[in-house]
Amino acid sequence: MKLWVTPKGDRWLCEICEEQYEKEIKEEKWRVAFDKTEPMLRCSECKQSDMEVID
Ligand SMILES: [Zn+2]
Repeated sequence: MKLWVTPKGDRWLCEICEEQYEKEIKEEKWRVAFDKTEPMLRCSECKQSDMEVID
């Protein structure tokens, strides 16, 4: 999960949502503040975590 610095504030995005925001990332020059593999993190967009949690 990457923490993106965007004009609307920082947001975590998973890889799937990152692809969907490709245009904004380029046009608004978003940059990555952190790149963490942390199962507790949730994507700001789809609310999913980076990893499947299997009980
Ligand atoms: Zn997502």
